[in-house]
Amino acid sequence: MSADRVTGADPADLYAVLKGFEGRPAAVAGVGKDPVNEPMIRHWCEAMGDTGAAYRGPGAIAPPTMLQAWTMGGLSGHTGRSQAYDELLALLDGAGYTSVVATDCEQEYERDLRPGDRITFDAVIESVSARKTTTLGTGYFVTTRTDVRAQGEPAGTHRFRILKYAPAARRGGDDRAKRPRPVVNRDNAGFWDGVAEHKLLIQRCAGCGTLRFPWLPGCGRCGAQEWDPVEVSGAGTVFSYVVMHRPVFPAFDPPYAVALIELAEGVRMVGNVVGVPYGEVRIGMPVRAEFVRVDGEWELPVFRPADGGRGGRG
Ligand SMILES: [Zn+2]
Repeated sequence: MSADRVTGADPADLYAVLKGFEGRPAAVAGVGKDPVNEPMIRHWCEAMGDTGAAYRGPGAIAPPTMLQAWTMGGLSGHTGRSQAYDELLALLDGAGYTSVVATDCEQEYERDLRPGDRITFDAVIESVSARKTTTLGTGYFVTTRTDVRAQGEPAGTHRFRILKYAPAARRGGDDRAKRPRPVVNRDNAGFWDGVAEHKLLIQRCAGCGTLRFPWLPGCGRCGAQEWDPVEVSGAGTVFSYVVMHRPVFPAFDPPYAVALIELAEGVRMVGNVVGVPYGEVRIGMPVRAEFVRVDGEWELPVFRPADGGRGGRG
């Protein structure tokens, strides 16, 4: 059935067509571009900060979570790829579900991977969900399953799920969508009470004194459930950051920088970096917390360069 026949059709008809893709191959007889090898393992471990001894030296294995890396086609892609997955996405594009966001992946491991192992794989379109409405928009979740083999033996399975969706209309003016609300519960209410008073509060374990954030009911170090709130100075540095361009979420105006801030007290907190062009945010940049009203009902902590926004160059 062609995309033309379902464009604008009853979603039930489209869904029936989409279900017909379940079980069809997404990749057939794929071959890893490189065998499992030490340089890729080393680069991965450095990027992830994983110093596990199992991944170094004689007898090293590859980190299991690298499973997908050995199957990736790189910028030039793979030859011999099935057309079914492209057809499925084109069908969804044609029906107006033009945006895509990766939602999650799951892996199962059956065998250690060692340098020299030759990788082969097959991928199948495992499932297409019924039409779902999310905060991003309405669309379909598509799950592909890649079965990875090493030296011809089953090595693991990688499931990858995307949402192919029609973006929710952006609203302006007084109708503007509101920021998603945090879940406030008895475990973290103290933090939001602090925000309301323009105080950035973390927890200090009453048992061992460990500072912690985000708020949790118990201490990860000693297990004690008693704690005291501690107001932090708000000073910190950018530990890591991303700049969001896509997808466009209602109530957000991309591009914007989202950073993981290491506070002077040692805990880390996620927040927007404001007062500096997104392209000038840098790892190590000194910042200070402040509070910004994001809409009529809600304030959030954000972080501004401590030197007033000159990007730490002074
Ligand atoms: Zn403790």
